[in-house]
This record gives sequence, C-alpha cells and structure tokens, in this order.
Amino acid sequence: MKRASLACFWNDMPAFSFTIEAECPRSWARAGTVLTPHGAIPTPIFMPVGTQATVKSVSPEELRAAGAAIILANTYHLMLRPGSQLIHEFGSLHGFMRWDGPILTDSGGFQVFSLGHLRKLSEEGAAFKSHLDGSPHLLTPESVMRIEYELGADIILPLDICAPYPSSPHEARTAMERTHRWAERALKAKEGYNPEQTLFGIVQGAFEPELRQQSARFVGSLPFPGLSIGGLSVGEPKETMWELLRYTTPELPPGKPRHLLGVGSPEDLVIGVGLGMDMFDCVLPTRVARHGGLFTRSGRISIKGARFRRERGSIEEGCDCYTCRTYSAAYVHHLARTEEQLYYRLGTIHNLRFMLRLAAELRASIIAGTYPEFRDEFLARYVPASERVRQAQREKWKGARSQK
Ligand SMILES: [Zn+2]
Repeated sequence: MKRASLACFWNDMPAFSFTIEAECPRSWARAGTVLTPHGAIPTPIFMPVGTQATVKSVSPEELRAAGAAIILANTYHLMLRPGSQLIHEFGSLHGFMRWDGPILTDSGGFQVFSLGHLRKLSEEGAAFKSHLDGSPHLLTPESVMRIEYELGADIILPLDICAPYPSSPHEARTAMERTHRWAERALKAKEGYNPEQTLFGIVQGAFEPELRQQSARFVGSLPFPGLSIGGLSVGEPKETMWELLRYTTPELPPGKPRHLLGVGSPEDLVIGVGLGMDMFDCVLPTRVARHGGLFTRSGRISIKGARFRRERGSIEEGCDCYTCRTYSAAYVHHLARTEEQLYYRLGTIHNLRFMLRLAAELRASIIAGTYPEFRDEFLARYVPASERVRQAQREKWKGARSQK
C-alpha cells in the first residue's frame, strides 16, 4: 500500500515547473527556478552550447565544475550526424554524451534558415540539402517532434521560421503566421511522445513591434509551459533588439520562463535580464575563447597580447575558475600563442565560468533588490570588444588627422 501511494506521488510530480522567487520592482528582472526531470535550473541562467553533443573542448565534469546547470544541443547537426535514431539507442543525449543534467534542444529551424539557397520553405515544412553530403531532408513540425523525442532533451523547441534582417513587413507577417500554425501542429504532434519532455513555444514577428506583440500574445496563450524569443540577434543593431523586447515582454504570460534564443554576450545577459528574460544561450563565449578572447570585469581581452607574456597573476584577479586558480596568465598566453590543445580547454573554462558566475551574481542582485545598481556598475566598467575596436579606430583616425 505504502509503495503504491509513493508511486502515485511520483507520478503526480510535474515533469516541469517554474517558480519565481524574487522580482525587481525597478525593472522586469526576476529570479526563479525551472524544475526538469534532470534537475533544477536557477534563473537567470546562461546555457553553454554543445552543438555536436559536446561543449567544444570540455567534458561534462568540467561543465559541472564551471557551474553549468543546463546545456543546449543542436538538432540540425545531430540529426545529420550521427543521427537521432543512433543517439536514441544510446539512451538519448544524456546517455550518449554522459551529461546527466538538463538539456535543451533547438528545432533545427534556425540552421536550415541560415542555409539560404539550400532550403525551400512550404506550408508543410522546410526542405533542405545536408551541408555534409547534399542529401535531401524535410523538417516538418511533426518530424521535428519525433527527432527531438529521440534526442531526449528536457526542453525542446518547435519548428519555426526566423525571418532575415532586414525583412519587409509582409515577409515578417507571413513568417510569423506560419510559425503560429506550426506551433499548433507541434503541440498536437508532441502529445504522441514523451510527456517528461517540455515543449517551449517560440515568439517571432521579426522587427515589427506590433507583430512581436501579436506573436507574444498568441504563442503565450497556447499551452506551452515556457517561451523562447526567436529571430533576434540576427544582424540587427543591438538597440533594435532591446527595443523589440520592450514591446514583447509586457505581452508575455508572467508565470512562464522566457528564453532569449541565441543571445548571450556578457553585456547582453546583464541587459536582457532587466527586460524580463530568464534563460540565455549563445556560442559566443566558447567561440571567442578559442580565438583568444577572454572575458574580464573590465571587458574582453586578447590573451595573445604581449602584455601577458610575463604576467605571473591569473587572467583575472579573483576569478574562481579552474584555469585562473591553477595557471599564470603567462602560461595561458603561451598556450594560446602556440595554439596548443590545452589552451582551448583552459580558455573555454574561464569564459564559461565568467558567464555562469555572472548569471549567479545577477540572480543574487535580484534577490537582494539591487539589480539596477549591479547592471549600471557592470555596464559602466565592461567595455564590449566591438566598442573597444571602434574606439581604437577613432583614435587612429584622430591621429591621422592631426598629422595632416
Ligand atoms: Zn578564470
């Protein structure tokens, strides 16, 4: 009897839940917890991207040590190689890659969209040719649910259409309306698969504030337990992205977690949290790390720079990552200059830890009621790389002018 009631208790446990623990009264920031079958995710959170079922150059143990609570994997790449069926045979992504924490998979739509001439869109779905061998494939809202079931992530996304930047209002509306029809088809198809997986809806609307609001209301009204904001950070100015979020967030249901798809530089995380976003993912921190770009409180530095040649201290004083606790900046500089394998691992660990610590600090500031101060102090100190490059160029031009 006892066992039966216990089993019943477990069966009644929801596979997914979101609770908000604190809200900032002076912005839209909130701190919460997303619960999944593979563990809890404190929000705001940064999700490292493991495109090929691996966050490049680091192991699951190193991800854990850096504080990762959830990772993202790409459906497009994995369905082509090694194939979702093969991954399913190995116990889905968790069993295959030996990461036992929460995983989110995208729908593959964004990669198909970026293939351009290799794809053809219709009401049925997106037909495309593999970038590996040219083989033809068709992604539909229904087939994506099957593929993501086989991949077995905790949070999965439906097929959507990401309109390019710039898009005409007509193009934007057509893409949004089809995304909405596909969302309903995905919800229906999902019913036939694993109820332990949670399907998020995707808000689109391109760069039209009214469409963004409309999409937020429509997708928000469907029975999705969480929402991803798609189609941003695709080449538009940053200010445009933030402006569109200012229109979008108030239209979203407050009780569902919000994922800003493909966005995640340090300054984006800090600003996005204030605009009501809870989850972020981006290849940027790991990609720039492999090229020598490492994050510090005062901005992105190039570890290959000569100033680190004899630096006995760590990359950043006070950083609690494995790299900074163990090695001098001079050694990491040497590894980066000689393109040694170990550099990719050490650089990636530092940037991941920076992002995950930043997410934890943002969360703590929201709970303490000091998020706006934290945001302003961070942004005053942090110089984004692009801005620094622009500044350096301005100095050069000024110098050239004064010589004339
Ligand atoms: Zn570090």
